[in-house]
Amino acid sequence: SHELRTPLTLILNPLEEAARDRQKDERIDVALRNSRRMLRLVNQLLDFQKLSAGKKKFKLRPIDIVKFGRICGDYFAAACSTKKIRFQTTLNGSPLTKETDAAFYVCGSLDALETIVFNFLSNALKYTPAEGSITLAIQQTEQLVRLCVKDTGPGISEEGKQKLFQVFSQVDSSTTRAFEGTGLGLALAKELAEKMDGQVGAESEVGQGSTFWAEFPALTS
Ligand code: ADP
Repeated sequence: SHELRTPLTLILNPLEEAARDRQKDERIDVALRNSRRMLRLVNQLLDFQKLSAGKKKFKLRPIDIVKFGRICGDYFAAACSTKKIRFQTTLNGSPLTKETDAAFYVCGSLDALETIVFNFLSNALKYTPAEGSITLAIQQTEQLVRLCVKDTGPGISEEGKQKLFQVFSQVDSSTTRAFEGTGLGLALAKELAEKMDGQVGAESEVGQGSTFWAEFPALTS
């Protein structure tokens, strides 16, 4: 994968310049879009490979999940409103607001947590149609902290659910499928969660939306 990244960057840079010079050339746009897509895929592959080989270093530290949830929520609220999707963040079932005065911690890597939750949220955003809703729910018990992303999208079949967290698996693997992707995001989320002593899972039924969750041991002082 490493050998792929350098030439790709050397394709992308001149393409970006060409796109600036010839703003209405559709061929350049197509080439640029697909080179960017390929670079994303190569980067994801590299990350995944490093992780599986145990070469990725993790800086574990206490992370306040309430603060983390609020930041993720703010970030996605804007994207959801552009797509006319209702979005809310909750804490143990009640809306999480600026006034919510709570903090609890897990021991993790901020980068890894962000990758996991952003992956769930961007999938939810991708599959939920306009007028639907997405909730980022934080649930806390004495031992566990769970982050759930619930959407009102199409849901996933029993057969699809078996494949969800596997590398390169896409529920709809036809070449004509409606949504583009690599099938790596959820597999990466699973590996990352497990490196932080956590677990991931999904609950879904066709026509009933989906809930993806990641759960970690609560850090008690
Ligand atoms: P990608 O999105 O890049 O294809 P992922 O590993 O993130 O790869 O997801 C794997 C597959 O799981 C997706 O292709 C899609 O079929 C299914 N999926 C993931 N999230 C959702 C969701 N919220 N609703 C419906 N299907 C989903």
